[in-house]
Amino acid sequence: MAQVTLDNVRKVYPNGFEAVKPASYNIADGEFVVLVGPSGCGKSTMLRMIAGLEDISDGALKIGDRQVNKVDPADRDIAMVFQNYALYPHMTVRKNIGYGLKNRKIDKSTIEAKVQEAATMLNLTEYLDRKPSQLSGGQRQRVAMGRAIVRDPSLFLFDEPLSNLDAKLRNQMRIEIKALQRRLGVTSIYVTHDQIEAMTMADRIIVMNGGIIEQIGTPAEVYHSPASTFVASFMGAPPMNLLEGRVDGGMIRVGDTVVGNTTLAVTGPVTVGIRPEDLEPSVGGQLRIDVSIIEELGAHRLVHGHIAGQALTMQIGKDTAIGDGPIPVAIKNNAVSLFDHQTGNRL
Ligand code: ATP
Repeated sequence: MAQVTLDNVRKVYPNGFEAVKPASYNIADGEFVVLVGPSGCGKSTMLRMIAGLEDISDGALKIGDRQVNKVDPADRDIAMVFQNYALYPHMTVRKNIGYGLKNRKIDKSTIEAKVQEAATMLNLTEYLDRKPSQLSGGQRQRVAMGRAIVRDPSLFLFDEPLSNLDAKLRNQMRIEIKALQRRLGVTSIYVTHDQIEAMTMADRIIVMNGGIIEQIGTPAEVYHSPASTFVASFMGAPPMNLLEGRVDGGMIRVGDTVVGNTTLAVTGPVTVGIRPEDLEPSVGGQLRIDVSIIEELGAHRLVHGHIAGQALTMQIGKDTAIGDGPIPVAIKNNAVSLFDHQTGNRL
């Protein structure tokens, strides 16, 4: 097991592009951390620096107590699971899983025992003599996991491991990977662009944007107290409503409507954030929403409308009654976030 420490780790590619701006954080022993962000935000670069597949331009990276900036990937005691599985097509599942051990001069019976143990854990025992081409996508991903497990690494690195699977299998595999990680207790860093994977799998999430870490926090912290309008709109589907508003004398207004109060020492224009599920039709509600469209999603409905000329979405239960025309809407538990209207940072 190992903790991972980054101290101002930075990546500048040879063409001068700074893909990761100086980043400092600590991952605890046994923790499952998800790096999430849109395409091009630098999350793969970050992971590849930790893996040793990409040079670190500046700063210090420690795995356990050892600084590993210049340590060869093979000597970092890590195992990596890739999006494309990276299996050997001519080898059986058994050989693919045991491959990393063969190079370590471990005797055959120990390798076989470890392969069997991993195969049992991953429900692969009946496929051990098949080649990768004779497996489904989910089974291939499990073989890649098996290969990582048998090495007993102190750190697992996952690079979008589920993105080649269909939605249903992805949901199933993310539960399997999470359960496996819990069981093995191995420190894990997992890269994805999928905010649902991040929310459901992570002990802590690192949200990246444009080479910068926007926020590090538990799924609940990132979701309920986003550090910026970027995080607010990236995490959550549909995203948080972000409305132009202002604060005067502690009252938060959108147009002429008072949507809440704040004790923050702020006056003037702000960005007001309200999660769609924190809005509910209510006779005494202070907001008037002009409803334009209702999307039926089975378990719930999305109501799209406007307030003070600004678009807004509300998520309501399938049984919640909703009238025609402008409807009164309340904000549950005063769940309003405020952001600086210029920087987008949480106030
Ligand atoms: P994706 O989800 O699309 O893989 P990402 O968040 O993982 O994106 P990276 O692959 O880390 O992003 O790339 C970050 C940025 O660095 C991108 O703008 C990319 O174009 C750039 N980049 C990646 N590799 C190189 C390279 N070898 N030389 C120059 N720029 C690079």
